[in-house]
Amino acid sequence: MEKAKQLLEFHYGYSSFRTGQEQAIQSVLSGEDTLCVMPTGGGKSICYQIPALVFEGTTIVISPLISLMKDQVDTLLQLDVSAAFINSSLTARETRDTIEKAKRGEYKLLYIAPERLESYDFMDHLRQIDIPLVAVDEAHCISQWGHDFRPSYQRIQRMIGNLPNRPVVLALTATATPRVRQDICWSLDIDENKTVLTGFERENLSFSVIKGQDRLSYLKDFIKKNEKEAGIIYAATRKTVDQLYENLKKSGINVSRYHAGMMDQERMEQQEQFLQDESSVMVATSAFGMGIDKSNIRYVIHFQLPKNMESYYQEAGRAGRDGLPSECILLYSSQDVQVQRFLIDQSSEQERMAQELEKLQLMVDYCYTESCLQQSIVRYFSDEEIPPCGRCGNCTDARESIDVTREAQIVLSCIVRMGQKRFGKTLIAQVLTGSKNKKVLDFGFQKLPTYGMMKEKSIKEVTDLIEFFISQEVIAVEHGTFPTLYVKEKGKEILMGKEQIMRKEAVVTKQVAVDDPLFEELRNVRKVIAEQENVPPFVIFADTALKDMCVKLPETRDEFLNVTGVGKSKLEKYGERFISAISDYLAENPDRRKNAGEKVPAKKATPDSHLETYTFYKEGKSIEEIADQRKLAVSTVENHFVQCMQEGMAIQTEDLIPDEYVSEIEQAVQQAGGEKLKPIKEMLPEEVSYFMIKVYLLQNEMKKQVKS
Ligand code: ADP
Ligand code: ZN
Repeated sequence: MEKAKQLLEFHYGYSSFRTGQEQAIQSVLSGEDTLCVMPTGGGKSICYQIPALVFEGTTIVISPLISLMKDQVDTLLQLDVSAAFINSSLTARETRDTIEKAKRGEYKLLYIAPERLESYDFMDHLRQIDIPLVAVDEAHCISQWGHDFRPSYQRIQRMIGNLPNRPVVLALTATATPRVRQDICWSLDIDENKTVLTGFERENLSFSVIKGQDRLSYLKDFIKKNEKEAGIIYAATRKTVDQLYENLKKSGINVSRYHAGMMDQERMEQQEQFLQDESSVMVATSAFGMGIDKSNIRYVIHFQLPKNMESYYQEAGRAGRDGLPSECILLYSSQDVQVQRFLIDQSSEQERMAQELEKLQLMVDYCYTESCLQQSIVRYFSDEEIPPCGRCGNCTDARESIDVTREAQIVLSCIVRMGQKRFGKTLIAQVLTGSKNKKVLDFGFQKLPTYGMMKEKSIKEVTDLIEFFISQEVIAVEHGTFPTLYVKEKGKEILMGKEQIMRKEAVVTKQVAVDDPLFEELRNVRKVIAEQENVPPFVIFADTALKDMCVKLPETRDEFLNVTGVGKSKLEKYGERFISAISDYLAENPDRRKNAGEKVPAKKATPDSHLETYTFYKEGKSIEEIADQRKLAVSTVENHFVQCMQEGMAIQTEDLIPDEYVSEIEQAVQQAGGEKLKPIKEMLPEEVSYFMIKVYLLQNEMKKQVKS
């Protein structure tokens, strides 16, 4: 393992392994076939790349996606690791050359597409290569239960059996459903006990669902606020993609699009633009993203409801692979449920339909849940139980609720008077605001008692309100030639004064990353280099590396080597250019150096919120008092405390864990080990929260650090 750590430092410039990586690598190095299940962005690649460097010979990596292979190989070449790929994008001659070189042992890693395994010739070539390890990436493709079944994957086992010396096999996937896991192990003959499984929480992502708000204006507002950052907008249909694309383009947003209806050439160009950071927004159907490992995507917005949680988590999970805080937002409107039903209707066979509809329902449930969103997701995918994340829209919701019963009654009675299932929301809003529109007058609606009853509001405010009532199932939409509205059961109750309805204020869009001019500067340097080298910018350096430069402000080679993501090769190749950009910047902005160390720029989405909590704490306030005063969820404040502790601020843990529990927690930790929270929690009384356990563990860790 010492060797593995050195290689990590030397090539990749990372100082330690992440959870799961070490275990997976150890298992492979000791010759065990292994299944490694980690969420997207968890760092699966390193789990086979490091063993590949340790072993003699050429590691074969089976990967389903052409674009991914190219990026991976580019990334490795950047790190001075010899690697190549074979797939349908190569000419026959290039393929032959690559095979020849592989036989001469010139590569540490060779990526191949699974379809190659259907050729006997190719199998023969493989027999002549010295192969210590076969890594099966996206291993869920082997399972019919997975969402991307690939028949060629089922040949992998035969290929392995055909080799003169049996290699170690490492399967990797982000799909954790037990069924798929089992399938992978069976197909590849891996002992199920040799599974390395890390948690499913993505600690840098914050999920939210926006309901009953105007989607387009929310979207535009969000993009404008985050225009320097890269993001993906997913829509359910090609038509919506095209409409959004045009619309955003007109608003001056630098946007690309992608869907299966476009010509190959154009689609490729659009994708390239986005990967090269030439456009910042990609509007796409779910056809986009498989095999894209652009690591600096700061947000993923679903403009429409996805068909199930599997697709949702996979698509949303493309945000923040570099580990920096990122947003995953779902813009929900109840009408989309119809769209998805329709799509399911069109595509599924009878027997799968019930299952698909059930999954859709669970997706809708997610949109309505009031508890932690990350928790719901993890619960959906595994039997793991995590504490509330403290980051998601629900955990951080501090909006006030206002009573809108009276407004609802006005809108509902207007719909009833205009005739139900006859008109859409725009005409209804026009009547309510007292518009003199021709259509309104033609129908004689100016004579209705509800005419102009909301004239102090704008049409948009009223349509938003109607949207909200639709989301609350007070009003329903009938989909005929055009959508018309009618009053639902719950609406009738409200009309009769039997029920109340409350509405929360609109969610305001937020800025994902704090602006930092030095970061912009470095981003430009990276872009220029990427163009010269003809690779995407994130292959040169991840955003994390640039951010770390902004913190450490390296001006010498040694200092530069200290930056996370800088290994020997990148130091030699790019050190000078980044160092000189940083020195220039510091010469012009001498204050930056002075402030460094006190204030870390651009690290957290809301960088100082926990500091504010800390100030309250210093004034002697309790968690509940702080939450109350700051209008934050208790879980958010708890997370602030954790953050403060991690940053080494003085906190008396006695203030956070009641005395009577300390020794019980201590015992439970001793018995269950300090790795996972859930088994510890289960041994303790209900009142001991996850938070208390976390605090206890953190304190323990700090004591250890002080000692060593
Ligand atoms: P996955 O394949 O699991 O989605 P990747 O292998 O693409 O994830 O890794 C995601 C990101 O995390 C990459 O930018 C990678 O360089 C980075 N990374 C992986 N391991 C480490 C580590 N030990 N320390 C720091 N960064 C890491
Ligand atoms: Zn949460």
